[in-house]
Amino acid sequence: MSSPEYKRILLKLSGEVLMGDQQFGIDPAFVAELAQEVKAAKDTGLEICLVIGGGNIFRGMAGAAQGMDRAQADYMGMLATVMNALAMQNALEQLGVQTRVQSAVQMDQVCEPVIRRRAERHLEKGRVVIFAAGVGAPYFTTDSGAALRAAEMRCDALFKGTSVDGVYDSDPKKNPAAKRFETVSYDKVLANNLKVMDASAVALCRDNGIPIVVFSIREKGNLARVLAGQGVQTVVK
Ligand code: UDP
Repeated sequence: MSSPEYKRILLKLSGEVLMGDQQFGIDPAFVAELAQEVKAAKDTGLEICLVIGGGNIFRGMAGAAQGMDRAQADYMGMLATVMNALAMQNALEQLGVQTRVQSAVQMDQVCEPVIRRRAERHLEKGRVVIFAAGVGAPYFTTDSGAALRAAEMRCDALFKGTSVDGVYDSDPKKNPAAKRFETVSYDKVLANNLKVMDASAVALCRDNGIPIVVFSIREKGNLARVLAGQGVQTVVK
């Protein structure tokens, strides 16, 4: 059961979670599992907007570090997010969940452009709307895209599903004594440069009063638990 606190959420999944246990790309079996989680959440009556990153395929910063023009590399990253969105669309529709992909970079043959009113209509009809290509501009990330769409679609919260189960005061992979916050303020995240989302995404959520729920999407059933307020998570608010 999802918490009555949420009617509409934005779920952001980093591209990396689509890799499953692979080193690169898309693991269809794992994407199918993710789709099950999304379906279970949707079946509770929740309206779901999805944003998926592209880091499993290409990150602009990585290209730039190897000498590519940053904007050009970012365009490639944006295209990677569209591939992931299509993979998730396919997995959801195989489970009978109606979806629409809306891309911030227009690709009429493949998906719709981002049109808020149209997205609203899709949600009303019970479809999951997958927003691709971030904000549609280089020098941004899909975290910013997620914050932007969460604000634009008036989502009650932004759920960030990653490989870590919340926000820690230091890197839990390097420091076994690292402590997880139950809740933490936007300003503390920004001032201490805590690893949640990019500063621009955190600031956009802060300015629009959108809580960010950080949780691990790697454990089965965790999205449902977190939605019910029974999971391990950190809430940035
Ligand atoms: N990107 C961009 N503008 C956006 C969103 C994404 O240029 O609005 C590019 C950028 O190069 C980024 C890549 O797409 O590195 C993949 O997105 P991101 O790194 O956010 O993916 P994630 O870390 O969530 O997998």
